[in-house]
Amino acid sequence: MERLKIAIQKKGRLSEDSLQLIKDCGVHFNSSSRVLRAESSNFPIEFLFLRDDDIPSYVYDGVADIGIVGRNEHDEQNFPLDIVRDLGFAKCRLSIAVPNEFEYDSVKSLEGKRIATSYPTILGAYLKENGVSSRVYEISGSVEITPSVGVSDAICDLVSTGATLASNGLKEVDAFYTSTAVMIAHPNLPAAKKEILERLLMRMDAVRKAMDYKYIMFNLPKKHLSEVAGIIHGMKSPTVTPLVDDQWVSVQTVVLEDLFWDVLEKLKALGAQGILVTAIEKMAD
Ligand code: ATP
Ligand code: MG
Repeated sequence: MERLKIAIQKKGRLSEDSLQLIKDCGVHFNSSSRVLRAESSNFPIEFLFLRDDDIPSYVYDGVADIGIVGRNEHDEQNFPLDIVRDLGFAKCRLSIAVPNEFEYDSVKSLEGKRIATSYPTILGAYLKENGVSSRVYEISGSVEITPSVGVSDAICDLVSTGATLASNGLKEVDAFYTSTAVMIAHPNLPAAKKEILERLLMRMDAVRKAMDYKYIMFNLPKKHLSEVAGIIHGMKSPTVTPLVDDQWVSVQTVVLEDLFWDVLEKLKALGAQGILVTAIEKMAD
């Protein structure tokens, strides 16, 4: 049987959310940390567990068909691969940071300076875009210690909270690039694999869409029904059921999680009662 080979980070910041997303798609597999390969028992997919740095080249070489990596890793390695989905998790930024005493006005302050980074391609493009020439040193890890040991004047590194920078006497001065996990794919997958990918993506979309919404039910004085549509912006018009008391109706609909509290307040102001809210497991059009 033809299987789609997916490369996932073996251990690190991307692993857990990547595996969870696939599990939520109803794809069963053994993810014990010792195995490097696994096959799903109920979906035509095979997993390769790798270091994240290796994922873009493995997909490019066809060792894997698709993979999940940080957008930063994809952009840095710059292989001609397709980004088929932005998955939203593993959010971080690539920032310029300098020692606290460095007087930094703008990216121009980096002219002629030594900058240590693990992302010379992305940084180089940013400097070039701004007409700044600096000396960029590629370092594979512990970039944040380089200013204090005199190897660099500034660094460019991934940041999620900034705590590591602060503990090394650095300040973040320019967050110029943001990254989230993306699904990458070889641009010329054979038709049979493309079909499996489409099936997987359809499931992922349903899972991810459901996370963005809540399902709500409430009772409402019938006379306010026309105002509800403007508040909830539901997918389609809400489902309305009559109640024994003919002055009241029961309303069911989905609401974007981001708008939820706002919607709740407005519904209460209209006299809605018995408001029930539940998570949605999967959602497809
Ligand atoms: P590997 O052993 O697989 O090479 P790694 O140490 O290179 O692992 P991680 O630290 O697990 O990689 O980070 C993987 C990805 O997670 C990064 O490329 C980035 O996209 C994302 N990420 C999210 N937050 C952060 C952060 N604070 N620091 C670094 N990466 C982060
Ligand atoms: Mg890595």
